[in-house]
Amino acid sequence: MRIDILTLFPQMCDTVMSESIIGRARQAGKVEINCIDIRNYTVDKHRRVDDKPYGGGMGMVMTPQPIYDCFSALCDEIGEKPHLIYLTPQGKTLTQQRVKELAKLDNIALLCGHYEGIDERVIEALEPEEISVGDFVLTGGELPALIVADSVSRMLPGVLSDDECFEEESHFNSLLEYPQYTHPSEWNGRTVPDVLLSGHHAKVDEWRREKSLERTLKRRPDMLENAQLTDKDKAFLSNLKKEQSNM
Ligand code: SAM
Repeated sequence: MRIDILTLFPQMCDTVMSESIIGRARQAGKVEINCIDIRNYTVDKHRRVDDKPYGGGMGMVMTPQPIYDCFSALCDEIGEKPHLIYLTPQGKTLTQQRVKELAKLDNIALLCGHYEGIDERVIEALEPEEISVGDFVLTGGELPALIVADSVSRMLPGVLSDDECFEEESHFNSLLEYPQYTHPSEWNGRTVPDVLLSGHHAKVDEWRREKSLERTLKRRPDMLENAQLTDKDKAFLSNLKKEQSNM
């Protein structure tokens, strides 16, 4: 997969995407991530990419021309139109389900706004999907774009090793993950649950499933509606609910 991040701060994005698991995946050619400087496409003689808002008000607005030309050049280079996403607090909130779907695409372009945002006409012209990373406002779309690039990249084949596999992780199957423990087996008087030290794989799997169900019921009961539950899971949850109501 190829991911292009269209931004006024390419270095900021490239630095983050060069570290740890994603950095290694880029080096190994499992994912191509390019950070493109929108400013390189401005035709303004002072290299400006923003201006005061019409109608007055605070801050600056990113002008349409450099964004449009930057995206057009990218389409020409790739030879097709990548799926364009504009990161905005006005978009649909990102979910693991959407991340899974995006990971199936060949090309994604992530458009980062900055300052007060971008001129509405370029949004109308390019018709991007609009994605938010939550109901709060950041100074720019770079961190949200990095969230999308990271969450999508780690779903690609070969990016995670087997023991970092995402299939049991929170949200993958509409459940939260079970608690995790590592060495030492006792720390500050707190011990690891015996079953995890037993070496009995079936019992470990059962314990993890139950903890996962228990956590989801307690912290995010709304998620259970979309989870695929076996009869055994349903019976376990029903007992938990009874215990809760008797408390
Ligand atoms: N004036 C805009 C509004 O009220 O909707 C907010 C602009 S924000 C200060 C600047 C840029 O940060 C946005 O264009 C967007 O790219 C990005 N941004 C801020 N918060 C975001 C969020 N929660 N999700 C995705 N992008 C966000």
